Amino acid sequence: MTSSGYAPLQHLDDPDFDQAGVSVRVLRLDLYPPLNAAMSSGNKYFKLKYNIQAAQQQGKTQLLSFGGAYSNHIHALALAGKQHGLQTIGLIRGEQQQPLNPTLRDAVDAGMQLHYINRIDYRRKAEVNFIAELERQFPAAFIIPEGGSNQLGVQGCMEIADHIAYYRGQHTDTVMLPVATGATMAGLVAALPNSTVVGVAVLKGGDFLHDELNAYLLQSGQIDWGNWQLECNYHGGGYAKCDSRLAQFISDVSKRLDIPLEPVYSGKLFCALYDKVRTKAFPHGSNITLIHTGGMQGLRGMQQQFDAALKQA
Ligand SMILES: *Cc1c(COP(=O)(O)O)cnc(C)c1O
Repeated sequence: MTSSGYAPLQHLDDPDFDQAGVSVRVLRLDLYPPLNAAMSSGNKYFKLKYNIQAAQQQGKTQLLSFGGAYSNHIHALALAGKQHGLQTIGLIRGEQQQPLNPTLRDAVDAGMQLHYINRIDYRRKAEVNFIAELERQFPAAFIIPEGGSNQLGVQGCMEIADHIAYYRGQHTDTVMLPVATGATMAGLVAALPNSTVVGVAVLKGGDFLHDELNAYLLQSGQIDWGNWQLECNYHGGGYAKCDSRLAQFISDVSKRLDIPLEPVYSGKLFCALYDKVRTKAFPHGSNITLIHTGGMQGLRGMQQQFDAALKQA
């Protein structure tokens, strides 16, 4: 299923899909760039690409960003910085925990400097004054917002569409992906005017994402083709929450389809897919491409929570 310059496309076989008359495949960004533990992968690779380029063009020697203790973004930033010869600084929400969890252990091993900020200050992370303070404190740093979600991130995510287009024999009318800030989805919406992009919100109260999507498209100078919709009922109780139902679902489906899933993003994406297929929400004959955005590294820090939820199922 692999071809070197592009993410693999995996076809999914399930009697449920046959019965609903839909064809489903997954673009495996979790395997792109081709798996190399020392590189960032998934949607964070695309979000960082032009941020790193901009940092280099501005002569910055450091990358600075924000995230929680299990953040895929922080993990990807640390690896990408190492790869490009840029120092990295991670501002981590909450108190320092010892020993470091696997995400932060990898980040430190890749050379990232960690600073912890309390939850109250962390909320100011996008405020102009707070950023100005950081610019004074870290003059050599290129500052990237949480999740790598800015205009440059959207620009990078538009290139995910090239990976879909590569398999052009496989017409896609629907693209589905998990959504947190909406920057990845905005890139796909902008680059795929002929498909419907369905975003599955992983946070509770995902309706705010309508405005976020509009803002990302506007900032990036992209036309809103109106080719998108948000699914806000698959958050499963909130960000990074994993109840016994979700744990059981992930355990069953990842075995049945032979695909790695985790509870924060891809597990919820697949929940939404199966629910929509079973309720016949997709017209007969639909060609659906899911985006596996990666994030498997985060499961290491959640394994106990996951196993406990599975036991209760
Ligand atoms: C960060 C992340 C997302 C969310 O991307 P947004 O652009 O913030 O919506 C989805 N999946 C995975 C695996 C992620 O790490």
